[in-house]
Amino acid sequence: MRYERVLIKLSGGAFSGGAESSINRTAVDGLVEEITSITKLGVQVAIMVGGGNIFRGRLADDWGIERAEADNIGMMATVVNSLILRSALTSHGASEVRVMTAIPIATVAEPYIRLRAIKHLEKGYVVVFAAGIGQPFVTTDYPAVQRAIEIRADAIFAAKQGVDGVFAEDPKRNPQAQRYAEITYDEVVAKGLNVMDQSAFILARDHNIPIHVFDASDRSAMRKIAEGEPTGTYVGHDAVTRLIDS
Ligand code: UDP
Repeated sequence: MRYERVLIKLSGGAFSGGAESSINRTAVDGLVEEITSITKLGVQVAIMVGGGNIFRGRLADDWGIERAEADNIGMMATVVNSLILRSALTSHGASEVRVMTAIPIATVAEPYIRLRAIKHLEKGYVVVFAAGIGQPFVTTDYPAVQRAIEIRADAIFAAKQGVDGVFAEDPKRNPQAQRYAEITYDEVVAKGLNVMDQSAFILARDHNIPIHVFDASDRSAMRKIAEGEPTGTYVGHDAVTRLIDS
């Protein structure tokens, strides 16, 4: 196996699967299938859950509300998704799933305690991180990288909705845009490419934690990446920058 311990960043969009309702049963079942496919291989899995399918802090201006409050609402949205994920994983037979929240909600989930999270992972439990880092003015990208470093994950699996990697141009604007098979951190920065929020990306680069970007709806992507089969885009210091057909 290429990795022993990974942190999966699941955007809220992965819970809606592009559908109109914010949470789509088929999309969630697909995520569970994918996650289970790598836990069965013995990979230790932590998951940072987003909330954009329900609410994002950047909607503050549209709603005429304070940003810090909008971010609180966004964080609670991640808690909703985390509980859905825990239930879905459990009902599909996952032995132990622990939701650890950065905002205390004692009757619903455990508080985030770094060493406890690591203990859970060592026992093979799936650990779901809710509420990001519990502070406003960030999305879940930065907390994903922060927690990945804290728990000593070997890599970050960044599941994207509707794109299967890092592209030379925006594939939604130019359908001919080419995808990178691999790219270095420095090239991502130099070319201004969008992998995750800039602050998150820089943190990953500075701590040399590799990032795999892939399509959340590709049911075999996580297993292939865990087994070392090239899938999506690999970002890392040791990457050899190249487009997919070159
Ligand atoms: N959020 C926050 N602090 C955190 C993590 C998340 O304030 O540590 C808020 C922020 O408003 C963000 C929202 O929660 O927009 C939902 O997370 P995100 O936008 O990352 O969801 P995704 O885009 O992954 O679906």
